[in-house]
Amino acid sequence: IVQWPFSATQRRKLNWVQLAGHKGNFKAADEGNILKKFSENEMQCFEKLRDDGLLPFVPGYHGVVEKDGESFLHMTDLLADFELPNVMDCKMGVRTYLEEELVRARERPKPREDLYKKMTEVDSAGPTPEEHSQRGVTKPRYMQWRESMSSTNTLGFRIEGIKKSDGTCRTDFKKTRSKHDVIQVFKDFVGENVSIIKSYLSRLTAIQHALKTSEFFKQHEVIGSSLLFIHDHTGKAQVWIIDFGKTTALPEGHTLNHDIPWQEGNREDGYLWGLENLIHTLESVNND
Ligand code: ATP
Ligand code: MG
Ligand code: MG
Repeated sequence: IVQWPFSATQRRKLNWVQLAGHKGNFKAADEGNILKKFSENEMQCFEKLRDDGLLPFVPGYHGVVEKDGESFLHMTDLLADFELPNVMDCKMGVRTYLEEELVRARERPKPREDLYKKMTEVDSAGPTPEEHSQRGVTKPRYMQWRESMSSTNTLGFRIEGIKKSDGTCRTDFKKTRSKHDVIQVFKDFVGENVSIIKSYLSRLTAIQHALKTSEFFKQHEVIGSSLLFIHDHTGKAQVWIIDFGKTTALPEGHTLNHDIPWQEGNREDGYLWGLENLIHTLESVNND
């Protein structure tokens, strides 16, 4: 039981919320910072972002540290400056797997019962008659089906999770697909507070501009990265670009548009298209 007055560590623990990923992937660190389980790929992204125009929009990166025999990326806790924050994770892009993951999943496409079960848990009408009769779904089929259930394919982003200052937490947005439904969720998240919406919109516009001029962004397939929205009762509202675990460099000399349709082989991620839709969605919350 935590007693008032809270120590800095206690306050940090009370504030900390993780809306995605495995629980064991994060550890508390020194005041105002957190540790995320090391990945070579994500580390390289943070290193390259050190001299890129996106730097003001990503968590501060303080290098690799060892703790209890494991390696971690040491970074700023984005929630640290907030009082009882409201937090939302939006995963960006028209797909959330790498092209190479799809290719690998196709190598031995045998029907799997675990994926069949996962599919029927979300939608009993998901499997085809053949998949029902064999009680199995292949991995590539599952991956593509999952993206078609949420707004990932239709809007270029999806809501992963929301934690509100009242303590309620939701991560059951796997079937939230229509623009109407997404608007309702956003409305509930911001509590129809016009000044918070305005702050979010101006931050998103700044991010959009930074992305369009970023060398890093041009040269990477940005998959599974999120925009983390944070606001509290004081009226403070910020958006940050997080999670570079699957952000992958293109071969030398290649670049992406980020706003043209994905066709297998072109590696397009639809990030800018999704961001445009996200901005429009938030604008319609404001104008409703
Ligand atoms: P996944 O790939 O499944 O999305 P992951 O293990 O790569 O998960 P992240 O997506 O980076 O982890 O982070 C998971 C959650 O942890 C985020 O949704 C957010 O709630 C929280 N989080 C991540 N980084 C930070 C940060 N720097 N400050 C505050 N909260 C963070
Ligand atoms: Mg993530
Ligand atoms: Mg990740």
